[in-house]
Amino acid sequence: MNIHEYQAKALLKSYGAPVAEGVAIFSADEAEAAAKKLPGPLYVVKSQIHAGGRGKGKFKELSADAKGGVRLAFSIDEAQAHAKEMLGNTLVTAQTGPAGKQVNRLYIEDGADIDRELYLSLLVDRSVGQIAFVVSTEGGMDIEAVAHDTPEKIVNVAINPEAGVTEADLAKLTSALKLEGEAKADAEKLFPILYKAFVEKDMSLLEINPLIVMKNGRMRVLDAKVSFDGNALFRHDDIRALRDETEEDAKEIEASKWDLAYVALDGNIGCMVNGAGLAMATMDIIKLYGKEPANFCDVGGGAGKEKVAAAFKIITADPKVEGILVNIFGGIMKCDVIAEGVVAAVQEVGLKVPLVVRLEGTNVELGKKILNESGLAITAADDLDDAAKKIVAAING
Ligand code: GDP
Ligand code: MG
Repeated sequence: MNIHEYQAKALLKSYGAPVAEGVAIFSADEAEAAAKKLPGPLYVVKSQIHAGGRGKGKFKELSADAKGGVRLAFSIDEAQAHAKEMLGNTLVTAQTGPAGKQVNRLYIEDGADIDRELYLSLLVDRSVGQIAFVVSTEGGMDIEAVAHDTPEKIVNVAINPEAGVTEADLAKLTSALKLEGEAKADAEKLFPILYKAFVEKDMSLLEINPLIVMKNGRMRVLDAKVSFDGNALFRHDDIRALRDETEEDAKEIEASKWDLAYVALDGNIGCMVNGAGLAMATMDIIKLYGKEPANFCDVGGGAGKEKVAAAFKIITADPKVEGILVNIFGGIMKCDVIAEGVVAAVQEVGLKVPLVVRLEGTNVELGKKILNESGLAITAADDLDDAAKKIVAAING
């Protein structure tokens, strides 16, 4: 799960990290009052969307030379004018894809006088099984480009979980970032705080780009992107409350309500399967026959008829889907339950695309009988290979 920059900053501030004062607003009317709460004279008006690259982003509705999604303002009036222009419009950045994201919230922040922009992130480094800091003096810009062009400018420091962030780790980090004086002292306080927040809140990524040294020599967290481990959210009510469903795919929200594993992909065959391994095999064989999956929805082991019907509806709701392949191996899951769920869903929402069903395992005969007697236009398949061939042929007409 991702959260907005202003939420991430509030969280980091609660741990003692240095962040600017700021106010989140949802309508342009609130801009003046928000800016008045800040010291000025420099304000920053920041689009809050779950994507980076906002500064260099462009608003779809505005002219090409209009400013981007992060704007400096030198007066309250100017901050207000920016807010008016940005809210409700669609920001396209390198990370949003061409459709962009509608800006429904802004964060108005006290502006900083920047001396240096650094890069810092914390992530789970699976190669060493530890949480690692990744830092670079080349902050504020596209870190992927830095990694590609000048990999020696990126330094990785993995943290031993028993020891936590040690003096030696801090020395490596501050020297990699060429920090001195007050900025170095600020960093030595900040880095253990970030590590603590990462562990306690079950983050999967914490990226600060840029982490800045200000003209006054002090350090500040200028941007913050945080993702949390979805499997740990059950123990963080405070984090779950920050969820912004308008940022998420409606089908993924519906799937998570039913505890279904749904993954959207780029092709045009919708897949309903049970089990991650069968999902992979199903996608592989679709590709083998020259097509691409539009998604897969894993109904898991213990699903009932309603959950199966919900899964089927989620798959059919995707306009990209030109055909559906249901591939179930009934172990704990019974084939008749799958069949009943599919029939119930089709009766409710109709079936506008070809449907191929391959059932095998527990209660398979009963499952096939339910499908045959439903009167629905379902193509039965004998095995995985047959199923993939049939759905591809059906789509190719
Ligand atoms: P991103 O484009 O989505 O990564 O948004 P950032 O929060 O990283 O802001 C983009 C850029 O705007 C930063 O790299 C800075 O150069 C600039 N910026 C953001 N906040 C301030 C600020 O307080 N003062 C100044 N001078 N520039 C800022
Ligand atoms: Mg940034």
